[in-house]
Amino acid sequence: MSNQWVGDNLSDVKVKNRSLVLRLLKKKGLLSRIDLARITGLTQPTITNIVNDLLSVNLLKEVGFSDTRAGRKPILLSMNDQAFYIVAIHFTRRGFSIALTDLGPNILFRRDSHYSLLENIDLALLELQKEFIHVLEYATQSLSLILGIGVSVPGPVDAESCTILAHPTFLRYRNLDLRKYLFEYDLPIFMMNDAHAACLHETWSGQAREAENMVYFMVGEGVGTGVLVEGKIYEGVNRKGGEIGHTSINIFGPRCVCGNYGCLEMYCSTYNVVEKAREIAWFGGNGYLRAVLEKEGKLEFHHLLEGARNGDSTSLQLLQQLGQYIGIGVVHLINLYDPEMVVIGGQAALAQEFLENSVKQVVEERLLYREYVTPQIHYSKWGDEVTLLGAATIVLDHFIAGDLGRF
Ligand SMILES: [Zn+2]
Repeated sequence: MSNQWVGDNLSDVKVKNRSLVLRLLKKKGLLSRIDLARITGLTQPTITNIVNDLLSVNLLKEVGFSDTRAGRKPILLSMNDQAFYIVAIHFTRRGFSIALTDLGPNILFRRDSHYSLLENIDLALLELQKEFIHVLEYATQSLSLILGIGVSVPGPVDAESCTILAHPTFLRYRNLDLRKYLFEYDLPIFMMNDAHAACLHETWSGQAREAENMVYFMVGEGVGTGVLVEGKIYEGVNRKGGEIGHTSINIFGPRCVCGNYGCLEMYCSTYNVVEKAREIAWFGGNGYLRAVLEKEGKLEFHHLLEGARNGDSTSLQLLQQLGQYIGIGVVHLINLYDPEMVVIGGQAALAQEFLENSVKQVVEERLLYREYVTPQIHYSKWGDEVTLLGAATIVLDHFIAGDLGRF
């Protein structure tokens, strides 16, 4: 709901200013008190008070001296990432991962499960509860320092009620209220679509830290986007926006589970490229891919990467073709949003070295205002881990905004 008519009390201002200082330190790294005063426009005594308050609750640390000035060197401050912890959960179509992270967020402890909500909801939830206890056992000394649970999901969610909504590609039969399964520890639960969570992570910890308008194009087993508009993730009225994977690029193409035909996701996903590789391995007789399939009994995206690195021309061609489809997606996104930058993320970003020329070529040839626009195209460094880190970042984002009442 919009908060445009809500005023600020004095105590709100205090939280707002602390939040501002934490946000700056988190995004920009090391800063001195003088830097903070200069950037925020707050007076030096105000900054000194805020910094003292945050130091006293262990949320900041002093980490040495700036060498930028002659004379007395100012002390540099950073956020103390070990002050609190977060439980992050990411569901995929094939299972889920759960982790304990610090405020980095850095993963301190992680469990992966192949029990999937898509296959058997009850069994997967039972496993989730078991793994959740493992994570809490690991954190046993610091339970009171856990801020909350962040959940990222490859489909639609109702964040207010912590419900994963039924959807043909992920949760087929019923909506799922996660609070029922994770209620015992009375931790707040925050939930987001995984592409939006990944986008949020990129804005806190990745290459989009300074960006105000950015599109995160996530290409993994599915395809989605997170759109940052004036510093905020734009999710849409029903929080179901950004579904570029289900825009039709071939109206005569195969029918997609969504009901549309020839959706981008059917051409441009790591799932699709692996399926093609499997077909070639069985029927086309490619030596390397066939050998992997026979030896390992399966073929995965990382096999294609290894193949391309070792000079297998089929693996290389498949990745280059994926790059062309990613390029098509990027063209759509830039035409629609005119962003400062596009970040390509998800598992496909790990293949940057083989994709980027194809992506660049398609964008140069097909972008509408190519004479006037030179978009920055970056690749996320986290591969498919970004969605788990993104889940932690949802909680981090609420924490730094002051929503959790911890400072
Ligand atoms: Zn579709």
